Amino acid sequence: MTIRAHLYVLIASLLLAGCSNDDIFQDLATSGELVVATRNSPTTYYFDGDQPAGFEYDLLRAFADARGYSLRFQVAFTLDELLTLLQEEKVHLAAAGLTITPERNARFMTTLPYLQQSPLIIYKSGSKRPRTLEDLIGRDLVVLAGSSHAELLQRLSEETPELSWREVQAGDTLELMQLVTLKKAELAVIDSAEFKIQQQLYPRLVAALDLEAEEDVAWYLPSTAAAAELKDQINVFLQEAEASGLLEGIRERHFGTAKFSSRLGAFTFSRRVETLLPQWQPLIESVAAEYRLDWRLLAAVSYQESHWDPKAKSRTGVEGMMMITRATADELGVTDRLDPRQSLRGGARFIRNLLRRLPPDIEEPHRLWMALAAYNIGYGHLEDARVLAEKRGLDPHLWPDVRSQLPNLQNPDIYPTTRFGFARGVEAVTYVDNIRQYFSTLQLKSVTAERIQPPVDVSTMLAEDQLLALPLVM
Ligand code: GLU
Repeated sequence: MTIRAHLYVLIASLLLAGCSNDDIFQDLATSGELVVATRNSPTTYYFDGDQPAGFEYDLLRAFADARGYSLRFQVAFTLDELLTLLQEEKVHLAAAGLTITPERNARFMTTLPYLQQSPLIIYKSGSKRPRTLEDLIGRDLVVLAGSSHAELLQRLSEETPELSWREVQAGDTLELMQLVTLKKAELAVIDSAEFKIQQQLYPRLVAALDLEAEEDVAWYLPSTAAAAELKDQINVFLQEAEASGLLEGIRERHFGTAKFSSRLGAFTFSRRVETLLPQWQPLIESVAAEYRLDWRLLAAVSYQESHWDPKAKSRTGVEGMMMITRATADELGVTDRLDPRQSLRGGARFIRNLLRRLPPDIEEPHRLWMALAAYNIGYGHLEDARVLAEKRGLDPHLWPDVRSQLPNLQNPDIYPTTRFGFARGVEAVTYVDNIRQYFSTLQLKSVTAERIQPPVDVSTMLAEDQLLALPLVM
């Protein structure tokens, strides 16, 4: 054969290999690169600054690390696109908050479920609340095209043929929430876990009813023999992760943010982020950088402390943006507590000190929540709550376990047995819960501001009233 003939054979075999179905799985065995289709959304995969983040990302990272794989993501802009990537075996798996459905199961294989959530009907407060399935008839209801919810409505409409809905070609449900907020749709179907997180951005939206009981969420793989081995590896990993608490930890990190005590609180916070924060953000950012803290955390703490009022004072003698006591101010070298820079620096330094002081084997994010609890209640009292956790067979390294014990510091049957005695533990819990909520709202806002936008294809441009890439409106 001539060199040219050799070349043709080589090219032909490369092309054939490109068409071969188990090719991508052979690649996985040789290169160790796991290719994953996902959606860019606050509950799946996103960039926090330049760091990849999200529930699906963390779970995949843990699996990839356990098996020594590297990860590559393919972001799909619609669910149909995502499933096509899987169908054509351009990816090894799809990890995108996918609900297990009969139609999908007929085409693909699923792993064990790792999350449960129910599909909710949401509406804008002030509009008519639907209470039953029949109440949806005649209302403008939107769902993601190709979603489990579109499938579910299809099934429900066999019994209730008057049901109608619109399917929106988008990759994430923020688009649907945007439509309802802007009154470009009346109702939407959103998964409960996603809604809980994203409601922070749209505090006017409320859940009206569960459209279905809880459903399982899992990763999907091509339905081939070659993919079966990967599926088995994943299932072993998921079982171990469930048993070791790893999975619960990832769920808690992403979906554990306690709910706002009231929607009014969420709404007020969102409004103040627009009206008050811009004036303080540069100062907060500069102080946060000095103390190597995330500025959004410092913003959340200062909001919880003073609602960003540098002249705030309380009856108990704490003052300023970070509500520092006189004694603490002296310790931290703060000479004027009403000077916002000094107050923020004092508070930031205090948080840093607490983070350093906590035992080294407490990992993030538990470390941060405990430092904040200590900021509020005092280090000694936090230690007492950790001791109580240990005595009760809980884990003093985990925030949820320590959190559960803080209220006992004001239980008269229990606090006398602790080293530092009575403390307002209930308040400390609310304090940390609120800050987590504010922090996560600010994170979400920056994530959505930096969201990857789909490439614009003029041939399929949406009608004006469906233009979805609008700025977020509260
Ligand atoms: N869980 C949905 C699905 O599997 C996607 C998210 C949503 O539509 O809220 O299709």
